[in-house]
Amino acid sequence: MHEMSIAEGIIQVLEEQAEAQQYSRVKTVWLEIGPLAMIETEALLFCFDAVTKNSLAEGAKLNIINIPGEAFCMQCLKTVPVEKRYDSCNACGSYQLQITQGEEMRIKELEVE
Ligand SMILES: [Zn+2]
Repeated sequence: MHEMSIAEGIIQVLEEQAEAQQYSRVKTVWLEIGPLAMIETEALLFCFDAVTKNSLAEGAKLNIINIPGEAFCMQCLKTVPVEKRYDSCNACGSYQLQITQGEEMRIKELEVE
């Protein structure tokens, strides 16, 4: 389950940031996830609860913000929405799509004290 390593990665970032930004507790985390990042929201929430125990983010709430996937079509030169990596262009049906958004997972905002 790769959600466990993702959750651990988030804690790592929170701990690194704690020193730089001078906080000692994280209360809420807003996380942006694209549909192409292949992350199971339910699994990630579960793993996050597990890995935050005895950390600076114990009991913190994880809010997932789903951002839409987008790709640029090399055939019709349009930006089109995509939900999966091997989707075709919804305007012309081409598979020559270059993903421009939706593969990312990033911490958007933190509530700390
Ligand atoms: Zn197209």
